[in-house]
Amino acid sequence: MVSPYSQFRPSFRCSRRSFLKGCGMVAAALGLSSEMVPSLVEAAASNTRPSVIWLHFQECTGCSEGLLRASHPDLASLILDIISLDYHETVMAAAGRQAEEALKSALEKGRGRYICVVEGGIPTKDGGIYCKIAGKTALELLHEVAGPAAAVIAIGTCASYGGIQAAHPNPTGAKGVGDILEGVPVVNVPGCPPNPISFLGTVLHYLTFKRLPECDALGRPLFAYGRKIHDHCERRPHFDEGRFAERFGDEGHKSGFCLYKVGCKGPSTYSNCPAVRFNDAGVWPVYTGHGCVGCTEPGFWDTMTPFYERLPDVPIPGDRGIVSSAEGAGKTVLGVTAAAMAVHAAVGIGKRLVKGSSKEKKGE
Ligand code: SF4
Ligand code: SF4
Repeated sequence: MVSPYSQFRPSFRCSRRSFLKGCGMVAAALGLSSEMVPSLVEAAASNTRPSVIWLHFQECTGCSEGLLRASHPDLASLILDIISLDYHETVMAAAGRQAEEALKSALEKGRGRYICVVEGGIPTKDGGIYCKIAGKTALELLHEVAGPAAAVIAIGTCASYGGIQAAHPNPTGAKGVGDILEGVPVVNVPGCPPNPISFLGTVLHYLTFKRLPECDALGRPLFAYGRKIHDHCERRPHFDEGRFAERFGDEGHKSGFCLYKVGCKGPSTYSNCPAVRFNDAGVWPVYTGHGCVGCTEPGFWDTMTPFYERLPDVPIPGDRGIVSSAEGAGKTVLGVTAAAMAVHAAVGIGKRLVKGSSKEKKGE
């Protein structure tokens, strides 16, 4: 039997099997129905790959590293099959004047049609002098390159909200792309680094539906950031039953109990980490025994620290686990806690201002 996908591009950087597998993973992450998968594959396999100009500002290159080292399937190859990466300072061979010419040429070739990806925060203090490339400030480059783009994707928490550079006292006045650009559609894909599937899903959504995905009030695509970590964490049953790790290495920790008391910020963090996981090992931080540090939230370096202290104001069940010194043991009945959690969830939902139509949710 001939595969319905057999007409799609015969020569992939990644194998055809990996290509289809990757598209399937993205379709699942986007919450698309199976009828929409061929459209997504068709968009991904189109010969007219969109030009992408990738800018680096105040950052550690972890977002590019996270993307390019992703595997199972080879997501880096998949991304390079889907887009035409015309400018990316970290991976391109050109340097110096050649690199400047590459940027000029990409701008002229794709004016108004390219996607601009920004990695890193943008310093705005003192005229933006704290980050300069080829004699231009990051601010100037952002306006020059992202201004005429068809769409802008801010990859990582630095480009989305300023990141660690914007942590108190924010000496360079670092900001995220969306706080600077006006009149240009910007979607934030935060994380430190973000999951490659969230970036790829955003790109493929744009290619398939010709528009950016539906976002929350913080500019994050709902398909990836629509739920709290805490609401789909595999340790949640332990939280609900009051079983906690009190210290790293104690019996509760060894038993895989909830990490809230050792600082997990999952109850205040929106991301798909428990569902999508990372790399070919299928793991994510909480699975390995470390709490979420809330890296997808704006200002997490200020608001989620100290990382190893518990979040305030999270109603927790009575501690009934094996840890004898558990604080508040037996003081809170589970019924009260369940009601409190419902309120907590409702407040969280209320915070999210949904933009645009809800068409995708209904089964695109
Ligand atoms: S507090 Fe953290 S470890 Fe515990 S259930 Fe929530 S997300 Fe999972
Ligand atoms: S588990 Fe939390 S800190 Fe870790 S990557 Fe996901 S959102 Fe970021």
